[in-house]
Amino acid sequence: MAEETIFSKIIRREIPADILYQDELVTAFRDITPQAPTHILIIPNHLIPTANDIKASDEKALGRMMSVAAKLAQEEGIAEDGYRLIMNCNQHGGQEVFHIHMHLVGGHQLGRMLSPPA
Ligand code: AMP
Repeated sequence: MAEETIFSKIIRREIPADILYQDELVTAFRDITPQAPTHILIIPNHLIPTANDIKASDEKALGRMMSVAAKLAQEEGIAEDGYRLIMNCNQHGGQEVFHIHMHLVGGHQLGRMLSPPA
């Protein structure tokens, strides 16, 4: 059994978060350490630890994550100028929270997508 993360508590509203959207499949909330003027995390309500664990049965939730990202980008007023959707996986991807999440970042000109390893 995969271990729950802090994101499960956010979904269940057991700890505070700036939740922008929630339905039966996904939850979206502002990142606590924003890397850009808009930085939102969009997550499935059920626990999928990493992108490696995605199964065909998760496709509905993953599709919803994409459509909610597009909707929130419109609402944030960043759709026309553009933004970036990112999902990190495991150590090389820099994943820190093991409940998959899509970062929606934008609101200013973003830098080159990949910086050299630290
Ligand atoms: P990643 O490195 O892709 O796993 O990203 C994890 C993200 O979760 C980081 O951008 C963190 O700032 C964010 N984060 C961690 N804890 C919280 C929290 N309680 N509320 C909102 N965002 C969080």
